[in-house]
Amino acid sequence: MYNNYQLSLNDISKGDFLQKINIKDSFFEDFSYSEIKYTNITATIKSEKIGKELSLSIELDGWVNNLLCDLCAGDLSIKIFSKTNFILKYTAQKLESNDEIIYVKPNQNKLSLKHLLFELVILSIPNKRQHNNNECSNEMVELIKKYKKKEKKVSDPRWDALKKLKE
Ligand SMILES: [Zn+2]
Repeated sequence: MYNNYQLSLNDISKGDFLQKINIKDSFFEDFSYSEIKYTNITATIKSEKIGKELSLSIELDGWVNNLLCDLCAGDLSIKIFSKTNFILKYTAQKLESNDEIIYVKPNQNKLSLKHLLFELVILSIPNKRQHNNNECSNEMVELIKKYKKKEKKVSDPRWDALKKLKE
């Protein structure tokens, strides 16, 4: 079982390991700076022995909720799915884990996945956040377009001063 998104390295290192973790709203309480706060995601963690190496795969499947649509600013839920593979390496050296290799100490018992899961959720969200065709509120889209046009027309006195310097 996991506690605070920690996995037992003893279990993982045997290979053929499978664990499902739910990432819900409460997960984000420790990430107060996070723009993402509402999700219903299942993370499937698997480990496998491949030759002498140990692989760790993390699959995310679910929904990120309460986002704002880029086009109409309406409430938006996005379905996400991602699968990321890591190699787990035991080393006594102090090495920084990266997006391919997770380093663990030979005497380490637990592996905390909290930060890793957080980063993977953020990475799985597409850059374009918008409703599917025709699901946007047309009225709002028009209003936002108008507002954006106005914004461009109003000149910024700081820029005007810079322009004068250039002349
Ligand atoms: Zn929309």
